[in-house]
Amino acid sequence: MKSVALHNLGCKVNGYEMEVMQQSLQEKDYQIVPFDSKADIYIVNTCTVTNMADRKSRQMLHRARRLNPDAVVVAVGCYVQAGREEVIKDQGVDLVIGNNRKKDLVPILEEYLAGRGDKTLQDTTVIDIGSTREYENLQLKRTGGHTRAYIKIQDGCNQFCSYCIIPHVRGRVRSRSREDVLAEVRGLAGSGYREVVLTGIHISSYGVDQGAPGLLSLVKSIHEIDGIERIRVGSLEPRIVTEEFAAELARLPGFCPHFHLSLQSGCDSTLKRMNRRYTAGEYYEKAELLRSVFGNPAITTDVITGFPGETEEEFEATRAFLEKIKFYEMHVFKYSRRKGTPAAVMENQVPDDIKTARSNILLEMGRKFSKEYRGCCIGSEAEVLFEEEKVIDGRTFQVGHTMQYVKVARETDLPLANTIERVRVTGFLTEDILLAEQG
Ligand code: SF4
Repeated sequence: MKSVALHNLGCKVNGYEMEVMQQSLQEKDYQIVPFDSKADIYIVNTCTVTNMADRKSRQMLHRARRLNPDAVVVAVGCYVQAGREEVIKDQGVDLVIGNNRKKDLVPILEEYLAGRGDKTLQDTTVIDIGSTREYENLQLKRTGGHTRAYIKIQDGCNQFCSYCIIPHVRGRVRSRSREDVLAEVRGLAGSGYREVVLTGIHISSYGVDQGAPGLLSLVKSIHEIDGIERIRVGSLEPRIVTEEFAAELARLPGFCPHFHLSLQSGCDSTLKRMNRRYTAGEYYEKAELLRSVFGNPAITTDVITGFPGETEEEFEATRAFLEKIKFYEMHVFKYSRRKGTPAAVMENQVPDDIKTARSNILLEMGRKFSKEYRGCCIGSEAEVLFEEEKVIDGRTFQVGHTMQYVKVARETDLPLANTIERVRVTGFLTEDILLAEQG
């Protein structure tokens, strides 16, 4: 039995695909071993969203080579798709597999192991992702023992934000069939999962490639499935938030009012250069619409600092906009120049020290806003889906999340994992965990 070590980088979609690849190997009796151990085969599911992601992908591939110089080292995914030639030249890599070929990992690997082929198996393992319209239908069979399951519902993106490499490595929007998604959710419910998180590269585009009903309709169908008590959605495009979208979701008791609305900048001229298709004012209206319908929903976001041409005035416009919205959580990224994207060749690239200074300002704001949002929960009651037991300062707590994805702990050694309980929030246990008692 050959031993295989796998390492995943990047987003939830990559995580889902990694689980599918691991499952397909286990079904063929490969022994899965920890990545820092000596293995016959190493598989790195790579990422290329930033320069740092590229570097990490190379580091993990070269680490595998050091761990066992005789092993077969396989590079899979986005970094391969973005830099195929470069990865092929890399002496540390034996086999490359691009996106939309992950379901064929085992047959490709076995063909390589049988010596029938080179790094690309005659140029078949990395396809022209931009021209494919086929959704790579990965099926993940999960056993119980967990609470929340991420489900991939679509791949690809048609937006082409000027800084983003993803459409170039993930291709055009391709949606998974409703039947497949619903079948997987039923399977999860049968295995005891209580919450599903719908994920993808651009889930707001779900169904557009098939002229089929979109994300809202899919969420409503999932809400009908017995056993699934909570539905959460991944990152959303602000334009999907309409009165109908918000009102319909608010009618679903199991829908979690937690919206990750990607902003990127709060300044209209920067948004224009980013090729984002909304203004700060329109974004503000969407956030206010969600607040008018859901009361105090969790609104989280992504912000890029130091986008080419970002002046002090533009940054100040973004900072003031964030102050106005007060997000529950902000993921702050320094602009990362990606070869092959329009922004990479834009003039007025911002020096790294200025990017860092601006990021630090927004990160501090983010911490303050998060604490304020959590603080608002104190004294209120909430439904918590408990996930795990944790010992903090020698005391035993059951820890879980509210529907707004606020982390809450209740001091008890009663095993509450995978149960939903009403609690009363009484204060802070730590900076990012609230303390609660039985409601
Ligand atoms: S919406 Fe923009 S940032 Fe998001 S994946 Fe598509 S191109 Fe990239």
